[in-house]
Amino acid sequence: MPEQLDAVSDAERLAALAELNLLDSPREAPFDRLAELAAAILSTPVALVSLVDRDRQFFVSCPGLPEPWQTRRETPLSHSFCQHAVRTGEPIVISDARREPEFADNRAIEDLNVIAYAGIPLTTSTGYVLGSFCVIDHEPREWDTREIEILRSLAASVVTEIELRGALLREQAARRNAETATAAAEQATEQLQVVDRRKTQFLATLAHELRNPLSAISSGVALVDMAEGAELREVQTLMKSQVDQMTRLVDDLMDVARITEGKIQLSKKRVDVWQVVEDSAATARPMVEEANHQLAVDCPQSMLHVDADHQRLVQVFGNLLANACRYTPRGGQIEIRARAGDEGVEVVVADNGIGIPAAKLPKIFDMFAQVDGGGGRRGGLGIGLTLVQRIVELHGGRVVAVSDGENQGSQFCVYLPSAE
Ligand code: ADP
Repeated sequence: MPEQLDAVSDAERLAALAELNLLDSPREAPFDRLAELAAAILSTPVALVSLVDRDRQFFVSCPGLPEPWQTRRETPLSHSFCQHAVRTGEPIVISDARREPEFADNRAIEDLNVIAYAGIPLTTSTGYVLGSFCVIDHEPREWDTREIEILRSLAASVVTEIELRGALLREQAARRNAETATAAAEQATEQLQVVDRRKTQFLATLAHELRNPLSAISSGVALVDMAEGAELREVQTLMKSQVDQMTRLVDDLMDVARITEGKIQLSKKRVDVWQVVEDSAATARPMVEEANHQLAVDCPQSMLHVDADHQRLVQVFGNLLANACRYTPRGGQIEIRARAGDEGVEVVVADNGIGIPAAKLPKIFDMFAQVDGGGGRRGGLGIGLTLVQRIVELHGGRVVAVSDGENQGSQFCVYLPSAE
């Protein structure tokens, strides 16, 4: 009968059943006690706390049930009387199943030796019938009203036990959630503190970085009045280089702010990577020469193309080359090379300088990250690599830092998607 089938396979009922976490659960003493009590009081060989799932019945408790069912703790619905309690929502009381047309062909008669059966639906306070609490006899027998009443009270205790257990599980889950939330909040606070400390350190470095060129410019201004001719030009050159330095710092700061707020606009077009590499090398050359480094450039012309903002990519590789110069002792080897790779175009900036300790590698692209803890020892603010990473990501690429450790040099590999 279709409406009867619906009661067993009703999605809400099945969801309520699954939520209890009782299906396939290990045996629990309170249910065994109630089932054993029923079997003892009603003098039956078998008692069951049976949950009727979509296509099986699972026995939360099944004292006296023959093997192999005792161990399996479940049968298909072809062997289930209890499903009828779910369908009708009413007690099922049978003296001799072999004589009941509705039950005569139930396989439980032969396989589980169910002859007499009395089952009370396990109905939750929210109205879902989960299964049945039943006693079984292997002989025909009449059930009197008192026996059915006893079974009913014990079934009510089973439902109470199920609901208490559910409430306990919910409370434990809520407690675990609260604990997880507290731990997450603590972790977030800790992270904020780290960022805050880094920011404070950054401000100190920034002040230091701006103070140096500013002092040089102030001295220059004082000298301008007195100097003339070649000396004046020298003062002007010095002041210009200091102003350039400050402008670069301020530009980087503004870029970081703009990129962080998503306000940066890329003007993308098809770009020859060779041109980017050449222009980046050109911006780095003064630093390279000043430190007496060797710069090797290896990039094929008109072979590798990316869809990119040329200026921004020059900024990326210019930054990486500037770092390579800065973090390599005088007379070092610096290289920029590009080739086609699995992910599109690979551009590597490598040096044989001070290297990066393994522990610092994962955080090297974080804002304000500085391996030696800042202080401007080598003249950086700890935002260059953040900018590099953000710009590369805006181009749909990624950047990876590699180093074998202190004094083993560093490599920064940038992967960019190729242009069509
Ligand atoms: P900074 O302004 O300090 O150079 P970056 O974000 O560019 O800031 O770099 C962050 C830190 O990464 C640097 O302070 C430095 O410790 C380390 N680093 C960057 N590039 C290199 C490199 N080529 N070799 C060794 N360390 C590097």
